[in-house]
Amino acid sequence: MTDRDPVPELPHFDHQPSQYTGPSYRDVEQLRQSNLSPALVTYYDKPIMIVEGAMQYLYDETGRRYLDAIGGIVTISVGHCHPYVTRKIAEQLGRLQHTTTIYYHPTIAEYAKALSDKLPGHLSVVYFVNSGSEANDLALLMARLYTGNYDIIALRNGYHGGIASTMGLTAHSTWKFNYPHSFGIHHAVNADPYRGPWGHDDPNAGTKYAADVADLIDMATPGRIAGFFAESIQGVGGSIVYPDGYLKAVYGHVRRAGGVCIADEVQTGFGRTGEAYWGFETQQVTPDIVTLAKGIGNGAPLAAVVTTPEIAGVLAERTHFNTFGGNPVSCAAGKAVLDVIDEENLQENCRETGTYLMNGYRRLIASHEAIGDIRGMGLMTGIELVKDRHTREPAPEVCARVLNRTKELGLLVGKGGFYSNVLRIKPPMCITKADVDFLIEVLDMAFNER
Ligand code: PMP
Repeated sequence: MTDRDPVPELPHFDHQPSQYTGPSYRDVEQLRQSNLSPALVTYYDKPIMIVEGAMQYLYDETGRRYLDAIGGIVTISVGHCHPYVTRKIAEQLGRLQHTTTIYYHPTIAEYAKALSDKLPGHLSVVYFVNSGSEANDLALLMARLYTGNYDIIALRNGYHGGIASTMGLTAHSTWKFNYPHSFGIHHAVNADPYRGPWGHDDPNAGTKYAADVADLIDMATPGRIAGFFAESIQGVGGSIVYPDGYLKAVYGHVRRAGGVCIADEVQTGFGRTGEAYWGFETQQVTPDIVTLAKGIGNGAPLAAVVTTPEIAGVLAERTHFNTFGGNPVSCAAGKAVLDVIDEENLQENCRETGTYLMNGYRRLIASHEAIGDIRGMGLMTGIELVKDRHTREPAPEVCARVLNRTKELGLLVGKGGFYSNVLRIKPPMCITKADVDFLIEVLDMAFNER
């Protein structure tokens, strides 16, 4: 960058952050070091402290504004502190915070109905929990109980959570601790058109990748399985979009072996792909169990498993209880999120702004050699960085450098992929084209600098 290059400017936004009066950056840094788990990681060589949010923007303790293009790791669906969601949460909080499901409560009941109305007809029963890991753990239990089978197929490079059972479903050594896990779980070859054997130029790539699931069923299980787990687009693994026809072919193999199909919609649901309300619809499949978290509550601790009455019935064989699951405040948030997505046409915004964003990526890939692949759907996107476009050797250093520089320029993006070489851009679904212009200008500048 030369002295004359103007620094990109954030679009105008009418919000004055309040004066920050809490503990200093240094104090918080020290408290975090002395009293919080060393397992917690931060982004950036110099981490930032975020004290306020408004829609697609975040503010640090000095009042500096950033465009949030990762939304609390794909969790801020409709915007930070969205006024309608905040009001609905506050109203519920002022009336009743908690009772558990041992009593009737209108909010959980109405919300379950509204949520199931968004899913295909047979997926009508909701079990609320608090996190994506819990949702997937419960789906795993239901699949095994319902089918009477034990074996599960998941995908390499997938992420389904960090608790013991979902660490087994997850398939990245970086997330798997060195202790016993993954019993009965088999990981199929990932359907990754960039790094896998069959690419976008192969019209049969979907069925070819799916054949590995059939092979695993034949070779690694008794031939009967409990189920198949997949994110509808891989998130943590680096925004990987499967080839057309992949899930359709896999679901056929799974169902023939007596298994149920589980769609992890933790990152892809609620219109984010623009093409459809649910990520699985972009692959023309209908799952038997759907797991939801993150964007479902726009930051409220809320997650859900949605399934058929028959599958849901298996949990009634014993007592199953979750203290916070279906909490009225979280459910008020979830219901408000559904309303906002519809009222503000956010799925359409994801489609339109996502197309605009992808056009911006096309300009970037044309001028920056480090970009090996651009991909995604709607506002669920990724930019994979490589040292060499032919060898596709991952470039995590470039990713780290660009990540740090974009922060300095006022843009917060995520990173992911097994090699930490993918920029993950999955902003709140309310971002505008002006925000995208800023984002592309910042990325362009960050890539240009050495
Ligand atoms: N599934 C997917 C696809 C996820 O991305 C995540 C979280 N990154 C989870 C499950 C686990 O969710 P949680 O962190 O809420 O347990």
